[in-house]
Amino acid sequence: MDIFIDPKLCIGCGSCVIMAESVFTLDKKTGKAKLIKLPKEITKELKTAIESCPIDAIKIIE
Ligand code: SF4
Repeated sequence: MDIFIDPKLCIGCGSCVIMAESVFTLDKKTGKAKLIKLPKEITKELKTAIESCPIDAIKIIE
């Protein structure tokens, strides 16, 4: 499993960071979301974070 955050779509709202702070952070230079650590499984926290993205920029690649 991998997680792709589309940098062209991300508006840096920070919602994914609030919902899953162990997985996502905002890049200080670009202001866009980036992965901290790839989780071993799709947790409820991760699902909630992905669903919270207002422009659907986060995809799980199985
Ligand atoms: S929720 Fe979506 S738009 Fe907001 S920071 Fe995360 S990836 Fe970017």
